[in-house]
Amino acid sequence: MKVIGLTGGIGSGKSTVTDYLIARGFHVLDADQIAREIVLPGSEMLIQLASAFGRGIILEDGSLDRKKLGEIVFSDREKKKTLDGLMHTRILELIHERILQIREERKHKVIFIDAPLLFETGLHKSVSEIWLTDADDETRIQRIMARDGMSREEIEKRISAQMTREEKQSLADVILDNTGDQESLYQQIEQLMKKI
Ligand code: ATP
Repeated sequence: MKVIGLTGGIGSGKSTVTDYLIARGFHVLDADQIAREIVLPGSEMLIQLASAFGRGIILEDGSLDRKKLGEIVFSDREKKKTLDGLMHTRILELIHERILQIREERKHKVIFIDAPLLFETGLHKSVSEIWLTDADDETRIQRIMARDGMSREEIEKRISAQMTREEKQSLADVILDNTGDQESLYQQIEQLMKKI
């Protein structure tokens, strides 16, 4: 079974590709969803986070206070590293477990992992192939502004905090050029499907 890692910078089209793949009947593991699952109320991870960052990061209803945690880690590099270390380790464990389960079911010839932080977590080392959604900064800024109503400054700040496009391009096996319309993106995927 082939495991394809799908990644790309903010607003580059990962969800658009994932939605298309799911509609085409492919199995897609969603790393962001796993990240949300592991911090549900009562989870082992939430206990670990509270011991690392204080009980103040847990709201009265037992859920994670993301805003509070964000304030703590974004002003302190070491704390951000601690958080990433804890979260990434557990996310990788779960992804590996799920890949094993799916492999044993023998139902799929190929599965995808939608992982915005594929490279940053080191997950790229365990996939068979890396697909990168890619578009120039201005196109991404315009699309995110239209989608989220976020300001240009905020989006630029997020882009500059990420790995550069060039770094990602150099590590990818396949680059999906998402500067055109969605149809053109889907056509590129269809071409790739012929080789799977
Ligand atoms: P994020 O990193 O923020 O999660 P993403 O990489 O998942 O974003 P998408 O959500 O797929 O990116 O795309 C960003 C926005 O651009 C969405 O509103 C999407 O509908 C739109 N979009 C994606 N591809 C195209 C395209 N080829 N033409 C026009 N709009 C597009």
